[in-house]
Amino acid sequence: MKIAVEEAFATRSLVGAWIKLLKDGVPGEAGLDQHLGRLITAKSGWGAQVTERLLDVGDLRLQQMDDCGVDMQVIAITAPGVQVFDADTASALAEEANDILAGAVDAHPTRFSGLAAIAPQAPRTAARELERALGLGLKGAMINSHTKGEYLDASAYRPILEAAEGLDLPIYLHPRPAPPAMMPPFSERHLEGSLWGFQTDTALHALRMIVTGVFDEFPGLRIVLGHLGEGLPFWLDRIDRLFARGRNATDAYPFWVCKRQPSEYFLDNFWLSSAGHNWDPAVRFTEEVVGEDRLMFAVDYPYEDGKQQVDQAAGVTLKNPDKFYELNAKRVFKLN
Ligand code: MN
Repeated sequence: MKIAVEEAFATRSLVGAWIKLLKDGVPGEAGLDQHLGRLITAKSGWGAQVTERLLDVGDLRLQQMDDCGVDMQVIAITAPGVQVFDADTASALAEEANDILAGAVDAHPTRFSGLAAIAPQAPRTAARELERALGLGLKGAMINSHTKGEYLDASAYRPILEAAEGLDLPIYLHPRPAPPAMMPPFSERHLEGSLWGFQTDTALHALRMIVTGVFDEFPGLRIVLGHLGEGLPFWLDRIDRLFARGRNATDAYPFWVCKRQPSEYFLDNFWLSSAGHNWDPAVRFTEEVVGEDRLMFAVDYPYEDGKQQVDQAAGVTLKNPDKFYELNAKRVFKLN
Protein backbone atom coordinates (compact mmCIF):
# COMPACT_ATOMS: atom_id res chain seq x y z
CA MET A 1 0.00 0.00 0.00
CA LYS A 2 1.21 3.49 -0.89
CA ILE A 3 0.20 6.39 1.40
CA ALA A 4 1.20 9.93 0.48
CA VAL A 5 1.22 12.19 3.53
CA GLU A 6 1.70 15.80 2.34
CA GLU A 7 -1.11 16.36 -0.12
CA ALA A 8 -2.80 19.73 -0.38
CA PHE A 9 -6.31 21.05 -0.84
CA ALA A 10 -8.15 24.37 -0.56
CA THR A 11 -11.75 25.46 -0.14
CA ARG A 12 -13.60 27.91 -2.35
CA SER A 13 -14.10 30.28 0.60
CA LEU A 14 -10.40 30.22 1.35
CA VAL A 15 -9.44 30.95 -2.25
CA GLY A 16 -12.03 33.75 -2.33
CA ALA A 17 -10.65 35.22 0.90
CA TRP A 18 -7.09 35.03 -0.45
CA ILE A 19 -8.09 36.84 -3.65
CA LYS A 20 -9.75 39.59 -1.62
CA LEU A 21 -6.68 39.84 0.61
CA LEU A 22 -4.34 40.16 -2.36
CA LYS A 23 -6.57 42.90 -3.76
CA ASP A 24 -6.79 44.81 -0.47
CA GLY A 25 -3.10 44.46 0.41
CA VAL A 26 -1.74 42.20 3.07
CA PRO A 27 -0.22 43.74 6.21
CA GLY A 28 2.59 41.70 7.72
CA GLU A 29 2.96 39.49 4.66
CA ALA A 30 5.40 39.29 1.77
CA GLY A 31 5.65 37.25 -1.38
CA LEU A 32 2.01 36.14 -1.32
CA ASP A 33 1.40 37.60 -4.76
CA GLN A 34 4.20 35.54 -6.29
CA HIS A 35 3.34 32.40 -4.39
CA LEU A 36 -0.41 32.48 -4.22
CA GLY A 37 -1.52 35.10 -6.73
CA ARG A 38 0.05 33.25 -9.62
CA LEU A 39 -1.97 30.17 -8.78
CA ILE A 40 -5.39 31.33 -7.76
CA THR A 41 -5.78 34.12 -10.31
CA ALA A 42 -4.40 32.10 -13.25
CA LYS A 43 -6.87 31.61 -16.08
CA SER A 44 -4.91 28.85 -17.78
CA GLY A 45 -1.71 26.84 -17.63
CA TRP A 46 -0.04 25.27 -14.61
CA GLY A 47 -1.49 27.70 -12.04
CA ALA A 48 -5.07 27.12 -13.15
CA GLN A 49 -4.54 23.36 -13.15
CA VAL A 50 -3.10 23.40 -9.62
CA THR A 51 -6.00 25.51 -8.36
CA GLU A 52 -8.56 23.18 -9.92
CA ARG A 53 -6.85 20.21 -8.27
CA LEU A 54 -6.58 21.98 -4.91
CA LEU A 55 -10.32 22.64 -4.91
CA ASP A 56 -11.25 19.04 -5.64
CA VAL A 57 -11.52 16.42 -2.91
CA GLY A 58 -13.38 13.90 -5.04
CA ASP A 59 -13.20 12.28 -8.45
CA LEU A 60 -10.42 14.33 -10.00
CA ARG A 61 -8.11 13.65 -7.05
CA LEU A 62 -9.00 9.96 -6.99
CA GLN A 63 -8.28 9.73 -10.70
CA GLN A 64 -4.89 11.40 -10.22
CA MET A 65 -4.10 8.98 -7.39
CA ASP A 66 -5.13 6.00 -9.51
CA ASP A 67 -3.02 7.23 -12.42
CA CYS A 68 0.18 7.20 -10.36
CA GLY A 69 -0.62 4.37 -7.95
CA VAL A 70 -1.17 6.28 -4.70
CA ASP A 71 -3.65 4.35 -2.53
CA MET A 72 -4.27 6.97 0.12
CA GLN A 73 -3.61 10.68 0.57
CA VAL A 74 -3.25 12.44 3.89
CA ILE A 75 -4.78 15.77 2.87
CA ALA A 76 -4.29 19.18 4.47
CA ILE A 77 -4.99 22.83 3.78
CA THR A 78 -2.47 24.35 1.40
CA ALA A 79 -0.02 27.12 2.34
CA PRO A 80 -0.40 29.73 3.74
CA GLY A 81 -3.73 28.36 4.92
CA VAL A 82 -5.74 30.64 7.16
CA GLN A 83 -2.69 32.15 8.85
CA VAL A 84 -2.77 35.38 6.82
CA PHE A 85 -6.19 36.54 8.07
CA ASP A 86 -7.48 38.22 11.20
CA ALA A 87 -8.26 35.79 14.01
CA ASP A 88 -12.04 35.57 13.52
CA THR A 89 -11.89 35.17 9.75
CA ALA A 90 -9.14 32.59 10.11
CA SER A 91 -10.98 30.55 12.74
CA ALA A 92 -14.18 30.48 10.68
CA LEU A 93 -12.36 29.46 7.48
CA ALA A 94 -10.49 26.73 9.36
CA GLU A 95 -13.71 25.29 10.78
CA GLU A 96 -15.37 25.22 7.39
CA ALA A 97 -12.30 23.63 5.79
CA ASN A 98 -12.28 20.93 8.46
CA ASP A 99 -15.95 20.15 7.88
CA ILE A 100 -15.35 19.89 4.13
CA LEU A 101 -12.26 17.72 4.54
CA ALA A 102 -13.93 15.46 7.09
CA GLY A 103 -16.85 15.06 4.66
CA ALA A 104 -14.48 13.98 1.89
CA VAL A 105 -12.77 11.52 4.21
CA ASP A 106 -16.15 10.10 5.24
CA ALA A 107 -17.08 9.69 1.57
CA HIS A 108 -13.79 7.94 0.70
CA PRO A 109 -12.44 6.47 3.93
CA THR A 110 -10.06 4.04 2.25
CA ARG A 111 -8.55 6.71 -0.03
CA PHE A 112 -8.49 9.95 1.97
CA SER A 113 -7.35 10.92 5.43
CA GLY A 114 -6.96 14.47 6.68
CA LEU A 115 -5.21 16.97 8.93
CA ALA A 116 -7.07 19.89 10.49
CA ALA A 117 -6.61 23.53 9.63
CA ILE A 118 -6.31 25.69 12.73
CA ALA A 119 -5.83 29.43 13.25
CA PRO A 120 -2.83 30.08 15.50
CA GLN A 121 -3.94 33.74 15.66
CA ALA A 122 -6.57 32.58 18.17
CA PRO A 123 -4.65 29.98 20.18
CA ARG A 124 -7.42 28.88 22.52
CA THR A 125 -9.96 28.63 19.70
CA ALA A 126 -7.37 26.68 17.71
CA ALA A 127 -6.87 24.27 20.61
CA ARG A 128 -10.63 23.70 20.80
CA GLU A 129 -10.81 23.24 17.03
CA LEU A 130 -8.11 20.60 17.25
CA GLU A 131 -10.28 18.67 19.67
CA ARG A 132 -13.34 19.11 17.45
CA ALA A 133 -11.32 17.97 14.43
CA LEU A 134 -10.33 14.81 16.26
CA GLY A 135 -14.04 14.17 16.77
CA LEU A 136 -14.54 14.65 13.03
CA GLY A 137 -11.96 11.94 12.36
CA LEU A 138 -9.04 14.16 11.34
CA LYS A 139 -5.60 12.94 12.33
CA GLY A 140 -3.53 15.96 13.29
CA ALA A 141 -3.05 19.62 12.43
CA MET A 142 -1.41 21.43 9.55
CA ILE A 143 0.41 24.64 10.45
CA ASN A 144 1.98 26.57 7.60
CA SER A 145 5.10 27.85 9.38
CA HIS A 146 4.99 31.36 10.84
CA THR A 147 1.83 33.29 11.63
CA LYS A 148 2.37 36.96 10.78
CA GLY A 149 6.07 36.59 11.57
CA GLU A 150 5.57 34.67 14.81
CA TYR A 151 6.75 31.11 15.35
CA LEU A 152 5.39 28.37 17.57
CA ASP A 153 8.11 28.93 20.18
CA ALA A 154 6.29 32.15 21.18
CA SER A 155 4.53 31.69 24.50
CA ALA A 156 1.17 32.76 23.03
CA TYR A 157 0.94 29.43 21.18
CA ARG A 158 1.33 27.21 24.24
CA PRO A 159 -2.41 26.26 24.25
CA ILE A 160 -2.03 24.75 20.77
CA LEU A 161 1.05 22.74 21.71
CA GLU A 162 -0.59 21.63 24.92
CA ALA A 163 -3.69 20.45 23.04
CA ALA A 164 -1.67 18.65 20.36
CA GLU A 165 0.35 16.84 23.02
CA GLY A 166 -2.70 16.10 25.18
CA LEU A 167 -4.73 14.73 22.26
CA ASP A 168 -1.62 12.99 20.88
CA LEU A 169 -2.14 14.60 17.46
CA PRO A 170 0.90 15.41 15.31
CA ILE A 171 1.44 18.93 14.00
CA TYR A 172 2.59 18.99 10.38
CA LEU A 173 4.82 22.05 10.07
CA HIS A 174 4.68 23.04 6.42
CA PRO A 175 6.48 25.85 4.54
CA ARG A 176 5.04 29.14 3.36
CA PRO A 177 6.50 32.49 2.20
CA ALA A 178 8.88 33.95 4.78
CA PRO A 179 8.03 37.03 6.88
CA PRO A 180 8.64 40.49 5.33
CA ALA A 181 11.88 41.05 7.27
CA MET A 182 13.40 37.88 5.80
CA MET A 183 11.99 38.11 2.30
CA PRO A 184 13.87 40.70 0.16
CA PRO A 185 17.16 38.83 -0.49
CA PHE A 186 15.09 35.84 -1.62
CA SER A 187 12.46 37.63 -3.66
CA GLU A 188 14.99 39.86 -5.45
CA ARG A 189 16.01 36.74 -7.39
CA HIS A 190 12.66 34.95 -7.17
CA LEU A 191 14.11 32.33 -4.79
CA GLU A 192 11.43 32.76 -2.10
CA GLY A 193 9.34 29.74 -3.05
CA SER A 194 9.64 25.98 -2.71
CA LEU A 195 12.78 25.96 -4.83
CA TRP A 196 14.74 27.33 -1.83
CA GLY A 197 13.15 30.00 0.40
CA PHE A 198 10.39 27.87 1.90
CA GLN A 199 12.73 25.41 3.57
CA THR A 200 14.97 28.04 5.15
CA ASP A 201 12.01 29.53 7.02
CA THR A 202 10.52 26.18 8.02
CA ALA A 203 13.85 24.72 9.18
CA LEU A 204 14.36 27.91 11.17
CA HIS A 205 10.92 27.41 12.71
CA ALA A 206 11.76 23.87 13.84
CA LEU A 207 15.15 24.93 15.23
CA ARG A 208 13.60 27.81 17.15
CA MET A 209 11.25 25.34 18.84
CA ILE A 210 14.13 22.99 19.64
CA VAL A 211 16.66 25.41 21.14
CA THR A 212 14.08 27.30 23.20
CA GLY A 213 13.10 24.12 25.03
CA VAL A 214 9.60 23.61 23.62
CA PHE A 215 10.18 19.84 23.68
CA ASP A 216 11.34 19.90 27.31
CA GLU A 217 8.02 21.50 28.17
CA PHE A 218 6.04 19.21 25.82
CA PRO A 219 8.07 15.98 25.57
CA GLY A 220 5.17 14.18 23.90
CA LEU A 221 4.69 16.79 21.18
CA ARG A 222 5.03 15.26 17.72
CA ILE A 223 6.05 17.37 14.72
CA VAL A 224 6.09 16.26 11.09
CA LEU A 225 8.32 18.05 8.62
CA GLY A 226 8.08 17.59 4.87
CA HIS A 227 10.80 17.79 2.26
CA LEU A 228 13.12 15.36 4.06
CA GLY A 229 13.16 17.54 7.17
CA GLU A 230 13.75 20.84 5.36
CA GLY A 231 17.52 20.20 5.16
CA LEU A 232 17.99 19.70 8.90
CA PRO A 233 19.23 16.07 8.76
CA PHE A 234 22.19 17.27 6.71
CA TRP A 235 23.02 19.83 9.41
CA LEU A 236 22.43 17.90 12.66
CA ASP A 237 26.04 17.10 13.48
CA ARG A 238 27.25 20.65 13.07
CA ILE A 239 24.24 22.10 14.85
CA ASP A 240 25.02 19.94 17.89
CA ARG A 241 28.69 20.87 18.01
CA LEU A 242 28.16 24.59 17.58
CA PHE A 243 25.25 24.55 20.00
CA ALA A 244 27.41 22.90 22.69
CA ARG A 245 30.27 25.32 22.06
CA GLY A 246 28.06 28.39 22.14
CA ARG A 247 26.20 27.38 25.23
CA ASN A 248 29.26 26.33 27.21
CA ALA A 249 31.39 29.31 26.26
CA THR A 250 29.20 32.15 27.36
CA ASP A 251 25.84 33.25 28.65
CA ALA A 252 25.39 35.34 25.53
CA TYR A 253 22.73 32.98 24.13
CA PRO A 254 19.92 33.29 26.65
CA PHE A 255 17.39 31.61 24.37
CA TRP A 256 19.40 28.41 24.09
CA VAL A 257 17.74 26.74 27.03
CA CYS A 258 16.91 23.22 25.81
CA LYS A 259 18.29 20.54 28.12
CA ARG A 260 19.60 18.10 25.54
CA GLN A 261 21.49 18.33 22.27
CA PRO A 262 19.30 19.67 19.41
CA SER A 263 19.64 16.43 17.44
CA GLU A 264 18.14 14.43 20.31
CA TYR A 265 14.86 16.32 19.99
CA PHE A 266 14.97 16.04 16.23
CA LEU A 267 15.32 12.27 16.52
CA ASP A 268 12.67 11.94 19.26
CA ASN A 269 9.95 14.47 18.43
CA PHE A 270 10.09 14.74 14.65
CA TRP A 271 8.92 12.59 11.75
CA LEU A 272 9.70 13.46 8.15
CA SER A 273 8.15 13.07 4.74
CA SER A 274 9.74 12.91 1.32
CA ALA A 275 7.33 15.39 -0.33
CA GLY A 276 8.89 16.63 -3.54
CA HIS A 277 12.25 15.12 -2.55
CA ASN A 278 12.08 11.49 -3.64
CA TRP A 279 15.68 11.59 -4.82
CA ASP A 280 17.63 8.41 -4.15
CA PRO A 281 20.77 9.78 -2.42
CA ALA A 282 18.82 12.32 -0.36
CA VAL A 283 16.18 9.81 0.79
CA ARG A 284 18.82 7.20 1.68
CA PHE A 285 20.86 9.76 3.60
CA THR A 286 17.80 10.94 5.51
CA GLU A 287 16.74 7.39 6.34
CA GLU A 288 20.29 6.73 7.57
CA VAL A 289 20.18 9.78 9.87
CA VAL A 290 16.67 9.56 11.32
CA GLY A 291 16.10 5.82 11.05
CA GLU A 292 13.65 3.76 9.05
CA ASP A 293 10.78 4.43 11.50
CA ARG A 294 10.66 8.20 10.95
CA LEU A 295 10.46 8.72 7.23
CA MET A 296 7.23 8.65 5.19
CA PHE A 297 6.48 8.87 1.51
CA ALA A 298 4.74 11.96 0.11
CA VAL A 299 4.14 13.49 -3.30
CA ASP A 300 3.17 17.14 -2.56
CA TYR A 301 0.10 16.94 -4.79
CA PRO A 302 -0.90 18.95 -6.75
CA TYR A 303 2.32 20.98 -6.84
CA GLU A 304 4.42 18.01 -7.86
CA ASP A 305 3.68 15.56 -10.66
CA GLY A 306 2.48 12.43 -8.88
CA LYS A 307 3.77 10.05 -11.51
CA GLN A 308 7.22 11.67 -11.52
CA GLN A 309 7.47 11.48 -7.71
CA VAL A 310 6.17 7.91 -7.53
CA ASP A 311 8.51 6.76 -10.31
CA GLN A 312 11.45 8.53 -8.75
CA ALA A 313 10.73 7.04 -5.33
CA ALA A 314 10.54 3.59 -6.92
CA GLY A 315 14.22 4.00 -7.75
CA VAL A 316 15.23 4.62 -4.12
CA THR A 317 17.04 1.79 -2.31
CA LEU A 318 15.21 1.83 1.01
CA LYS A 319 16.02 -0.23 4.11
CA ASN A 320 12.34 -0.84 4.66
CA PRO A 321 9.90 0.14 1.89
CA ASP A 322 6.84 -1.03 3.87
CA LYS A 323 7.60 1.43 6.64
CA PHE A 324 8.31 4.24 4.18
CA TYR A 325 5.18 3.78 2.08
CA GLU A 326 2.67 2.56 4.63
CA LEU A 327 3.49 1.55 8.19
CA ASN A 328 5.06 4.77 9.47
CA ALA A 329 2.16 6.87 8.17
CA LYS A 330 -0.33 4.53 9.82
CA ARG A 331 1.51 4.82 13.13
CA VAL A 332 2.19 8.58 13.05
CA PHE A 333 -1.34 9.56 11.97
CA LYS A 334 -3.11 6.59 13.58
CA LEU A 335 -4.73 5.59 10.30
CA ASN A 336 -6.99 2.58 10.32
MN1 MN B 1 3.57 20.76 0.42
